[in-house]
Amino acid sequence: MITEKLQNAINEQITAEMWSSNLYLAMSFYMEKEGYNGMASWLKKQASEEKAHACEMASYIIKRGGKAKLDKIDVVPNDFGTPLEVFEQVAQHERRVSKMIDELVDVASAEKDKATQDFLEQVEEEATADGIVDMIKKAGDAGIFFVDSKLGERR
Ligand code: MG
Repeated sequence: MITEKLQNAINEQITAEMWSSNLYLAMSFYMEKEGYNGMASWLKKQASEEKAHACEMASYIIKRGGKAKLDKIDVVPNDFGTPLEVFEQVAQHERRVSKMIDELVDVASAEKDKATQDFLEQVEEEATADGIVDMIKKAGDAGIFFVDSKLGERR
């Protein structure tokens, strides 16, 4: 059985993952409106991935005999600037989420729950956004639609 403290901490993370999902979906809508359909598609897939993280965490809590809960999800921004600025914000947000997961691992460690530590380390995603920021910088204005079409290839 998972401890109440850890269950609550993971439930908070579930809400944070859903906020991330909404953030990326809002970015996707924004980029589609701006005419960057490949980037919009990449961001929509990212949004689905965050929702999948929330579901994985919920299933994990339930499997460990706890109760998964969703809380109120705060409003997300709807305007994000240039493509470079959008992906800088994605990278920044990923770093913030990594830090949150690290803190959650610390809670699991304090509760001496090794299984949860292992589970959380699996969920933690690799920072792909930094690579995209780099690609956009190198491409410049002339290459931006090349990057857009590259990102549109994400499965
Ligand atoms: Mg996530």
